[in-house]
Amino acid sequence: MLTAGQLTANLEKVRHRVDDACRRANRNPADVTLLAVSKLQPAAALRDIAMAGQMDFGENYVQEAMQKMADLADLNLCWHMTGHVQSRKAGDVAGRFALIHTLDSQKLAAALERHLVGKNLLQNVLIEVNIAQEPQKGGIDPDHLQELGEYVLANCPHLALRGVMCLPPVFDNGEAARPWFKKLRELRSDLAKGLDMDLPVLSMGMSGDFEAAIAEGATIIRIGTAIFGPRAVKK
Ligand SMILES: *Cc1c(COP(=O)(O)O)cnc(C)c1O
Repeated sequence: MLTAGQLTANLEKVRHRVDDACRRANRNPADVTLLAVSKLQPAAALRDIAMAGQMDFGENYVQEAMQKMADLADLNLCWHMTGHVQSRKAGDVAGRFALIHTLDSQKLAAALERHLVGKNLLQNVLIEVNIAQEPQKGGIDPDHLQELGEYVLANCPHLALRGVMCLPPVFDNGEAARPWFKKLRELRSDLAKGLDMDLPVLSMGMSGDFEAAIAEGATIIRIGTAIFGPRAVKK
């Protein structure tokens, strides 16, 4: 784990790069949320950057997220689920996260809805889009995006659909990823029109490509290694 000084220096560097990217894109930095993706990082590292004002954290694994929520309960952090959620784990995540970025099937939507009804809670969600139609990746095929959106509106009154998310097929190459970010922005517009609702959130851009994502309209960027350094290996 990096020292508190290294972590806060990294955070500052990323914030400056976000500001610069916003300036170049003629956007207000206040419209871009920096989400620190903290999967496989120790709770102490999250605490260090929370002390420097970082409040939004993304976690990928349900058990790990719940442990960190407990360890850091004194900090009032804002938790996002950025990992794949299995339908049978829906009860563990429903109502626990400010935003779930990875709704990718009717089955998961139905499972979340069932648990939310019981808890009488509203859950903000994004639909994850498998933007390049890669067989090994999560997310809904772009051809079925509208159908999933319609399903959520018609059947899941406890899910509040806020926008879309993607992981592009290229890594650490911002310019190569940019056409995929543009495509997600266009899919978002089509979906908003088709559903006749506002979908303000575009969750896209990671350590290697967030500047390109900001240029294409990202409202949430998900940054792990540029802040925390390399991750431990998932066991
Ligand atoms: C791990 C992860 C990130 C962060 O990736 P970095 O390249 O470390 O910035 C962002 N989004 C998702 C969905 C992730 O799983």
